[in-house]
Amino acid sequence: MNTTQRSTQEWQAADAAHYLHPFTDFKSLAGKGSRVITKAENIYLWDSDGAKILDAMSGLWCVNVGYGQQALIDAATKQLTTLPFYNSFFQTATPPAIELAELLAEVTPPQFQHVFFSGSGSEGNDTIVRMVRRYWDVLGQPERTVIISRNNAYHGSTMAGASLGGMSGMHAQGGLPIPGIVHIEQPFWFELARGTEALSPEAEKASRDAFGLKAASWLEAKILEIGADKVAAFIGEPVQGAGGVIVPPDTYWPEIQRICDKYNILLVSDEVICGFGRTGHWFGCERFGYTPDLMTFAKGVTSGYIPLGGVMVGKRVADVLIEQGGEFNHGYTYSGHPVACAVGIANIKLIQREHLVENVHDDLGPYLAKHFTALAEHPLVGEVQTCGLMAAVQLVKDKATGAPFAPEVELGMLCRGHCFGNGLIMRAVGDRMIIAPPLVITRAQIDEMMALMRRCLDLTLADATRNGWLR
Ligand SMILES: *Cc1c(COP(=O)(O)O)cnc(C)c1O
Repeated sequence: MNTTQRSTQEWQAADAAHYLHPFTDFKSLAGKGSRVITKAENIYLWDSDGAKILDAMSGLWCVNVGYGQQALIDAATKQLTTLPFYNSFFQTATPPAIELAELLAEVTPPQFQHVFFSGSGSEGNDTIVRMVRRYWDVLGQPERTVIISRNNAYHGSTMAGASLGGMSGMHAQGGLPIPGIVHIEQPFWFELARGTEALSPEAEKASRDAFGLKAASWLEAKILEIGADKVAAFIGEPVQGAGGVIVPPDTYWPEIQRICDKYNILLVSDEVICGFGRTGHWFGCERFGYTPDLMTFAKGVTSGYIPLGGVMVGKRVADVLIEQGGEFNHGYTYSGHPVACAVGIANIKLIQREHLVENVHDDLGPYLAKHFTALAEHPLVGEVQTCGLMAAVQLVKDKATGAPFAPEVELGMLCRGHCFGNGLIMRAVGDRMIIAPPLVITRAQIDEMMALMRRCLDLTLADATRNGWLR
């Protein structure tokens, strides 16, 4: 079957007839037709009409090294030729799986010397649930089963991943969360603590710092409510990604760490988005100053060129599982897939060789922050947050009070539509517009992205003014 020479209408008809997309209203999409993406290079995509689009979302937060990197393509091709598949079940292993495990131990924080591979971030979090419960079981505390997570967290879409996540829309379908997973409120200052008065920069900083401690105290309250001897672990994203690039106050994570330590609870960092340089550090926990016992990774480990995920297992857990655990009855056909691992190795070596993490930390992150801070002057913008190469702008009806637009206006979706129409991919989470561009973006390309973004904000403002949605 020819997969290159159909018209856009032909693609859309076949798509609507057969393909159920993730997180999609099937009927509504079939009526509109999908946008069909046909090729990519560096930070740009092209659709089936030949339109060029700046991909400010790195695909789905994953194409950290940008599109078209020959080293990754060569690694996959070579491995496909040599050994396209073998498993790690029957006391076997493959060179790429072993070497990637070694390399991950090198680039992750020092407590991590072991890895368990999965095929995705969701599967990685399923492994987390089984592993932390197994850990307490082996230690003779099988009643420690509860995992505490947060509202508006995203940890994937399998039964366990969606249960760990705090998305009410996901819980509403399929009888979730599964037992033994509970949620506390998220550290989202703008929504939960900003209030309705305009704040000086100093007052805002003080308010954010105080809120960070308060949000962490909700963990301690929940532990005490459940009983510490029933709690297995706490899990969180360093920065909530799909929830809207919610950057916690700097006071938050050290306090979370203190509370986990106090009650002897395992601390799990879901680094699926924040890992591999996104925050200007190799891992988000290093940016926020905490020391997790376990870390989930996926996305950036292969820059999305091929599916791969897994769990970094810290010394505390690894020692127990290895020395006393016996057989761990868990694993996936594609755990340690040789082609995926070969691409992972090439990807990490490229990140090292090109100093991508340092570039985000020293140059691109601060450059992006400067430009985003300037967006705060825009009449629609109520809050700006950046962390490395991820950023958010919150669209509001009234800048002074922070009052939101009526939800039925769907201003974020409107803004996203203008972005799509003007050659920019930006995501809308409610009225919060977010980006996470490839780490290979240049300063000139950041300028280009910001110009597109300003144009789309202005078009959105014009809509809001014309329709009388503003204050
Ligand atoms: C994307 C994501 C996941 C799920 O990863 P999949 O590969 O889609 O299963 C888990 N956690 C976080 C933080 C994510 O952003």
